[in-house]
This record gives sequence, structure tokens and C-alpha cells, in this order.
Amino acid sequence: MGTERAGVPVSEPDDAVLAVLDALPLPSLLVGADAVVRYSNAAWRSAVELLDDDRLRCAHGETDYFEVVRRLGDDPATQAFAGRMAALFRGELAVVEHEYGLACPGGTRWYRLEAAPIGGGDRFVVTHTDITARVRASRESAWLARHDPLTTLPNRSHLHQLVDAELRREGRGPMSLLLLDVDGFSDVNDASGHEAGDELLRQVAARLRRVARGSDVVGRLGDDEFLLVSPDCPGDCAVTVAQRCQEALAATPFTVAGRVVRLGVSVGVATAAPGAAGLAAAGLVRDADLALSAARASGRGAVRAFSPELRLAAERRAVLGVELERAIEAGELVLHYQPILHLPTGEFNGVEALVRWQHPERGLLPPGEFLAVAEQYDLLVPLTRWVLREATRQNVAWREQGLDLVTGVNLSARHLSTGTLVDDVLTALAESGMPPSNLVCELTETSVAEDPECAALQLAELRRNGVEVSIDDFGSGFSSIGQLVNLPTGVLKIDRSLVAFPEGRRHHAAAAIAAVVALGRACGIQSLAEGVETAEQLQLAAELGCSFAQGYHLARPMPAAEATGWLAARGGGPTRARSCPPGTRCCPGAEPRAGSRSGERTTLVRRGC
Ligand code: C2E
Ligand code: MG
Ligand code: MG
Repeated sequence: MGTERAGVPVSEPDDAVLAVLDALPLPSLLVGADAVVRYSNAAWRSAVELLDDDRLRCAHGETDYFEVVRRLGDDPATQAFAGRMAALFRGELAVVEHEYGLACPGGTRWYRLEAAPIGGGDRFVVTHTDITARVRASRESAWLARHDPLTTLPNRSHLHQLVDAELRREGRGPMSLLLLDVDGFSDVNDASGHEAGDELLRQVAARLRRVARGSDVVGRLGDDEFLLVSPDCPGDCAVTVAQRCQEALAATPFTVAGRVVRLGVSVGVATAAPGAAGLAAAGLVRDADLALSAARASGRGAVRAFSPELRLAAERRAVLGVELERAIEAGELVLHYQPILHLPTGEFNGVEALVRWQHPERGLLPPGEFLAVAEQYDLLVPLTRWVLREATRQNVAWREQGLDLVTGVNLSARHLSTGTLVDDVLTALAESGMPPSNLVCELTETSVAEDPECAALQLAELRRNGVEVSIDDFGSGFSSIGQLVNLPTGVLKIDRSLVAFPEGRRHHAAAAIAAVVALGRACGIQSLAEGVETAEQLQLAAELGCSFAQGYHLARPMPAAEATGWLAARGGGPTRARSCPPGTRCCPGAEPRAGSRSGERTTLVRRGC
């Protein structure tokens, strides 16, 4: 750096040039080829006054331009710039452009410098354009591209970059990713609104930041999912960190929108061993995600570490998803029907349609093996449409054979949220010719609890069209009972967990069932005891006033053809009674059907109804 051409003859600036420079709105200098500042224009001088920065003051004909540059910085970028200016003064470059920041008391200001020769090439005009607004905007958008504006934490793409960089780092130790899902967040969002939800996320972010070690990075992947990137942390250390996160969230309740909220967190952990080759952030986050799903499946507040079996299971689910899509079209699904006993009359006047998959290699699969896959791969709605078509067709076929039955069909929360549920039900009824009053749509307690208002609208629409609605697995979740009985529903199906009381708990089970029956009655809703496995349970359900019973003690689900014979033999048919006349409750004294063969499920006969 220096006055490379000191001593070179430089023509003096004439008044016309100075007038032009003063007319320029940009702070500008006129510098000779000897690097001496010949003139600073009016805009430069007022900028110096405004910034009150002595580093920029120039004495015309005296100040060495490189001295000014040196005053402003001595970093490699400034040195490189000075080198290019020297080349310009030597006539080796035609123009020099440079962007730089000037540290000022009010924060850094940014300038774009352009230097070019004038006249015979022995003098140079150096202009400075203030680009602070542009630089700030572009820095802000670069920040936004890498951060979550709500919590100011690194966002998904930034986290992936950080993880990839750590994975590539020579000599790195074991790195763990902790994927955290806040349990109970959506309740706050739904109950108190999105602003409260946002505030809660900010508070969660702050607590997680406090738990993290100095080398850890906490980021937000989206919704209520956070990622903690922990370098030099093997799997057992990650589990300890996960527990610290859980304590940090659970130890003290949160306060948002005047409400006290208790939160938990489920955690999935994936660890990259040192030197593990071929790993990328996306794969490691996916592993943590699989571990998180496993944690969620084992209940709230669990911590699970990734294992290769989890990936295998996910791959199997993906294959099953593809097969299931094809199976629905190929007609591999079948319905089994479980008879339902009307307790006051002792008649089997209904069935529940339960889907099975006749898998070409694995045999008959129960719904537990494929419904979750159907949900994951968006196949629940097409599956349910098939079930509705088949169940209504079978119901009409039974009617034609003299069996007048009510058929229950299970619907899903996913179907409620699509908004096509009512149309799909009415279409199936219209196409089959089944009377709407013979159909019961079953929705589980948990599925209606997801969005009770949306559920209520659709259930009311079904009932307006003559279709009955029942709440399945009632008492299995922790939903608000008040909310559930306010739903437009005709039947509460009391969950097996209440009906199948363990040894010595008859009293408690009786109290719970009696409470549900009484609550239902008060609201004009009938009760059905699910999962009746013993004569004692059946008797209890009858004594406590349940209207219906269903369970292995009475009959297992069976294919339609088998159900036809079974029901016909037990008198399911046109004499179906849906309720008994007032004051004629008959079932407590009901007896096993005379002549029932040993090993055959006991049925109840109607007495006095
Ligand atoms: P769910 O609707 O509560 O149906 C009753 C389940 O309990 C059936 O299991 C039935 O076989 C079983 N069950 C009946 N009586 C007894 C008993 O005495 N003891 C025991 N341990 N179990 C009994 P399945 O067929 O495996 O169905 C399980 C669940 O799958 C159903 O529970 C329902 O939620 C769902 N599901 C079944 N079919 C469909 C369908 O077509 N669509 C949808 N969305 N879900 C379905
Ligand atoms: Mg059901
Ligand atoms: Mg059930």
C-alpha cells in the first residue's frame, strides 16, 4: 500500500471539474495518480460533518489517499482493495468497484465505491454510494431464510446445514440429534388461539435454549417440533439431555393468555457415531423422526433412541401402504360382522361391520395391522368409502333374505376433517337402497374430540338424514364427557376397558358403567357395552341398564355368509325391536337360550317384552 506514483506530474483540477464534483450528490474524492487527495466535494464534506468522523477528513493537496484507507481498516479485504486502487493509479486497471462497511456510532453504514480516471488519466474520481438500506434488507432476508422469525431460532434448512457441516468436520466426536415434540401444545392453540400458541412456543424455545450446552444448537423445525443438535454427545448423553429438556418444560407450568398450562415433551434421539460414513443431515433427522414416532406411540413424555429396527418397520409400512392402495381397488378387503344384542328384547338386531384385509401372502389381517398405515398414506377415506359401499350392500341383501338389521360402520377422524363424510354416507345409502335408519355411523371418542365443533356439524347432518350416530370406545380417552354428550349422538359404546373389569374390580366397573348409562339417559342417549367377554359382564351390563351388548361372549366377528346363518338361527329379523315398552325391562332376568349347545355363545331370549 502506498503512493505508488509519488512524484508523478498531476495536472491541477480546474474550476469546471470542481463545480461538477460539487454538483454530484454522492460523497466523492478527486485523487491524483500520486494518491494525493486533490479535492473532496461538498457532499463528502457534509457527510464528514454529519458522521463527525475525523478518519474521513482530507486536506486538499496533502492527504494521502491510502492513509485514509488505512484509517478505515487493515483487514485483508481492505488491503486487497488498496492494492486494486494502486493498480488503478498506475493505469493497470480501468475501474475499481468495492463495497465496504463503515463502523459508525449509530451502527455500520454500507457504501459502494466506484473509482475511475478522468481527463488524461492522471486524476481519478472516487464516488461513494450509501447502500446501507439495501445491505440491511438483504442481510435481513438472509437471516430470515435461516431462522424462524417467531422464536428467532435456526430453522429447518439452517439446522440441516449445521448438521451437515458437523458431519463433515474432520475428527468430530459422536453427534446426537434430539427431536422434541411438545405434548399438549395443540390443546392451547385450539383453546386459547394462535397468539397464545405463538407465545407458548416462544417460552418453550427460551427454556430449551437455557438447557442447551454452549456447543449445542436449538432450532425449530416447524409447528411444535424443536431440534437440539448436540455435538460431542453419545447416545447415553443425549438421553440425559432429553430428560433435562423434559424437566425444563415440566418443572414449572407456563402462563399464557392468563391460563396456566402444563406441557410435556416426547423426544426421539438419533446419534451419528464418529467417522460414520455417508451420513447426511436429512437421513439423521429422519432417524430422529422415526424414534420420535416410536416415543409418541408409547405415550406422552417418552424418550426413544433410534434403532435400525425402527427404519425396517417404517420401510415395511411404506410397502404395506402401496399394497393397501392396490388392495382396496383389487377387492382384497373383506368385512366381518359382529352381532349386537339388544338387551331389553334379547334380540340380535344389529351388527358392527369390521374391516379385514385378505392379504395374498400374509393371510387375513386385522385392522390393527393396516389402519395406521392407511392413515399415514391417506387411504382412510377410500377405505371407508369401500366399507360403506360393502356394508350397505350387505345390509340390503340381508333385508331381502328377511333379516332386518342395523349395521354399524366405523368412520375415522380423518374423514371428518375432509368434509366429504356426509356425502360419502348418503351416496352409499342411495346406491344400495338401504334405509338410513338401518345405519349407525361409529366415531371414536378421540376422533370427535379432535375437533368437536366440526364433528358436531357433520354428525347433526347425518342424523337429520335419518342416520344414527354412536360414539365408539367411550371412556377410553380423557375427553370431556360434557362435550361428548353434547354431540348429536344416539348411542354411547362403552369401552371394553370399563366393561371388562379385572378380578375384584366389579364394584368400580359397575359404578363407571352406571354413571355413563345415567348420563346418557339424561341426554336421551342409549348405551352399548363393548367387549363383553363373560356371562358376569353381560349380566352387569344388563342390570345397569345398557341397551345393547357386544362381545366375544355373545359372538365373535364373522364373515357375512357365516353371520347370515348365525343371525337367522337366533331370530335376527323382521321382528326387530329397537326399544322395549316403558316399564318392561326384561334382561336382568334373561336366561340362556334353551337348548344352546355347549361351547356355543350364550344368547339371551326375550321374556315379557
Ligand atoms: P371397534 O370399533 O371398537 O371394534 C371393536 C373391536 O373389538 C373389534 O376389533 C372387535 O373384534 C373387538 N372385540 C369385540 N368384542 C370383543 C371382546 O369381547 N373382547 C375383545 N378383546 N375384543 C373384542 P377389530 O375388528 O380388530 O377392530 C379394531 C378397531 O379397528 C375397531 O374398534 C375400529 O376402531 C377399527 N376398525 C375396524 N373396522 C374399521 C373400519 O372399517 N373403518 C375404520 N375406520 N376403523 C375400523
Ligand atoms: Mg366400532
Ligand atoms: Mg369400540
